[in-house]
Amino acid sequence: MISQNSIESYKEQDIPEQFHFIGGRKQKSQTGNTVEVFSPRNGKLLTTLASGDVEDINLAVSSAKQAFESGIWSNKSPAERKKVLIRFADLIESHAMEIAVLGVRDNGTEINMALKAEPGSAASTFRYYGEAIDKLYGEIAPTSNSILGLIERSPVGVVGVIVPWNFPLMIGAWKVAPALAAGNSVVLKPSETASLSLLRLAELAVEAGLPEGVFNVVTGKGSVVGEALALHMDVDVLAFTGSGFVGRRLLEYSARSNLKHIYLELGGKSPNIIFPDVADLDKAASAAVNGIFRNSGQVCIAGSRLLVHKSIYEQFLELIIQKTQQMTVGDPLDQSSDIGAINSAVQLQQNLDYVETAKSEGAILCSGGQQILVGSGGYYMQPTIFKDVTAEMQIAQQEVFGPILCVIPFEDEDDAVRIANSTNYGLAAGVWTANLEVAHRMIRKIKSGVIHVNCYGGSDLTVPLGGLKQSGNGHDKSLHAIEKYTCLKSAWINLG
Ligand code: NAD
Repeated sequence: MISQNSIESYKEQDIPEQFHFIGGRKQKSQTGNTVEVFSPRNGKLLTTLASGDVEDINLAVSSAKQAFESGIWSNKSPAERKKVLIRFADLIESHAMEIAVLGVRDNGTEINMALKAEPGSAASTFRYYGEAIDKLYGEIAPTSNSILGLIERSPVGVVGVIVPWNFPLMIGAWKVAPALAAGNSVVLKPSETASLSLLRLAELAVEAGLPEGVFNVVTGKGSVVGEALALHMDVDVLAFTGSGFVGRRLLEYSARSNLKHIYLELGGKSPNIIFPDVADLDKAASAAVNGIFRNSGQVCIAGSRLLVHKSIYEQFLELIIQKTQQMTVGDPLDQSSDIGAINSAVQLQQNLDYVETAKSEGAILCSGGQQILVGSGGYYMQPTIFKDVTAEMQIAQQEVFGPILCVIPFEDEDDAVRIANSTNYGLAAGVWTANLEVAHRMIRKIKSGVIHVNCYGGSDLTVPLGGLKQSGNGHDKSLHAIEKYTCLKSAWINLG
């Protein structure tokens, strides 16, 4: 249990005007422009960010490139890089509450979740890749005796990173940590509505001993700063988490510039499937509710489609409605809130529009559906459940990215697989059954990057996360992530 006092000491502090972090120091935008940041807790102006432009990206990329070419980080031995990254992880941990509260103030995630998922994950991620990097070896190819074939992975150079607003630190760290561990320099562009914690992270990186220019953060609009980063000729790899809409644009930018590798972690419409033989229905119901409603459903792997066997459909529905109605929606900085705020007014309105769309398509609203706590000025919405949803409805096809659950009945295993695979997405899935054969068949048949069996949403750094189909083309986490930030080189040495 966190002490509410430790939250209180950070939550009302003034947040000064924010600047880019380029070349190891804070810098204003060259245009002098700013973007306003509003609090999802109460709708009030929180602070302003530097609104970056092409010139700011040029400066950050040139700073990153210069740092890379100087060898100040890229030529350090893996063991030396490890020391800095572990020191960085320790610093994140010792500032965990400060960073978590700062992050909640602009992104709205409930503090209990944010503390663990944001600084908690970021610290573990920097520690994991720091510890890993001096344990990776190159290869010697099985050539003939007269040849020595060497295969090695080298850093790519400048890595561009673009992240969304739902878990900026965790997702940012999943990309920045392996990129830095491998010896690259990084330019990161956070979301306009979740930049604060990442700007603080960049300061801590320098305090930990990361040389100036190796990690830069440029804030501002996606269509300006993000586009400039993705079009830049000196960015060698771009790692992105966000929507498919922007992901497609990045592929175009790469084609129009230097054919940089683009790694995409995109959205999902993940099915959570409940078979009638599930050992503990109550546990499955709690997991289903948490799997969609924590962080107001603003989770890429959210189990937003609940597929329930027709024989237990009404019983299970009743259980999840009961559990959902026990959840408290409230100030994300009050640790008694199970669900915090929606990230922005725009996102809240999109969710409310989806409620109307679902009703007009014939889905039955059985819980929630309304904006609440309107008097607070913040962006709050009831966790919402629709029943009798069919696989074809828009509410079952489109990624809402909000607290809306579609409950869909299924007939048998084949029907469950058909419905599960009926969207363009393939990020995550859940299967609840006591039958090992059914579980294994479902793992084979469901097209998604990760399948949870008799749980929903657990993971750690040892297991990669990435999507199939239109959920993406790359993987974060695990040693596999290092492949994205290194190039495979070989040497063919004639031994005479
Ligand atoms: P988004 O695609 O709107 O924005 C993501 C980032 O891209 C932001 O920093 C934004 O400023 C930037 N951007 C916007 N337009 C751009 C452009 N033209 N060029 C370059 N950059 C641009 O996504 P969002 O609304 O911030 O986040 C929600 C999305 O992220 C959802 O689709 C969600 O599923 C996805 N997501 C995926 C994962 C995963 O691991 N697969 C994890 C979290 C979130």
